[in-house]
Amino acid sequence: MLSENIRRYEYDKTFLFYKEMASLLKELKPYEEFNWIKEFDSAAAQQVARDLEIALKNAFSKGRLQRFPKHKISYKKQKLHNDSFRAVNNSNCIRIEDGAISIPKVGKVPIILHRELASKIKTVTIQYRHGKWECSITQEVECKAAKRVLHGIVGFDINSKQTVVGSNGFVAENPKFLKQSKAKLTQLQRQLARRNKGSNRWQETKQRINKLHGKISRQRLDFAHKISRQITNESDILCFENLNVRAMQKFNGSMVTDNVMGLITQLSKYKAEIEGKLYHEIGRFQKSTGICLECSQHHTLSLSDRNFTCTACQTYQSRDLSAAKSIVRTGELDLIAAGIVARVNPASQHKSAIKTKVFELLKFAAGY
Ligand SMILES: [Zn+2]
Repeated sequence: MLSENIRRYEYDKTFLFYKEMASLLKELKPYEEFNWIKEFDSAAAQQVARDLEIALKNAFSKGRLQRFPKHKISYKKQKLHNDSFRAVNNSNCIRIEDGAISIPKVGKVPIILHRELASKIKTVTIQYRHGKWECSITQEVECKAAKRVLHGIVGFDINSKQTVVGSNGFVAENPKFLKQSKAKLTQLQRQLARRNKGSNRWQETKQRINKLHGKISRQRLDFAHKISRQITNESDILCFENLNVRAMQKFNGSMVTDNVMGLITQLSKYKAEIEGKLYHEIGRFQKSTGICLECSQHHTLSLSDRNFTCTACQTYQSRDLSAAKSIVRTGELDLIAAGIVARVNPASQHKSAIKTKVFELLKFAAGY
């Protein structure tokens, strides 16, 4: 399909849309030279056509960085290749029973399930990653109704050391095991450089690196899930900074490349949505670091300044906490200005040590 699209594009600057590709697939099937099409699930082939249509459309939409799609390296040429396909559960053709998953044209494959299924399976993506076959199963889950009364608003700052700091005093350090795994990775990469490229021992080290990459990504995901669960449980409104990750990557090098920050915000967002809570991102160019938490005086800090003293009111403070407080202030103003929430006085205001701000939802904000 991609070859055909490249050919057409070169010929008269047109390309095929999904419907045309789907009917082309059907037309090709009877020909002997296209017999191989029958060897795999037709719904999976249609999904590839859908993805290709998206890739082609993206290449031509303004403001996007995607180029015209290219052919991927063939499976034969590259041993360590992340290969995948997506199957659709038409008329219950994908089932999980007796510890095995039934996949169209593949049959039953033993599966290790990481959680109970919540509802009917919609699609399953089968992918070869880090030396293992993985299934991602999509299901429909209903979100809880939006909360009318929201208790508590917290802002979060994720700094370059990947420590998450909340305006309520929440702190989660970048876990040690990630650092350990990364040190191991550097060691293996040095080993790989010493080996003869393509030799058996080189392949061995390459395999070990690949496995370790898998471990690190699983550790990272686990950490991000735990943190996002904890912070979503603690408050009804979550404010984050819309991180210009690309710009930060340039600034901090590899520290941000493994993007735990993006993961935590992404996972918190859907967790908040499922529970009818509010997730808000403050603008990308809103300054949040170096603003005094007492008097809002602005300061210019360098990356190494973890703490600073306010030049106006002399408060000594942590850079991360003041950033988190500034994020929550901006977030609250944003939400009130947009008419999404209003501050209300709680019905029974007990004199407790910790005051929780209470809000009322005024309008349902899609995308929040
Ligand atoms: Zn100050």
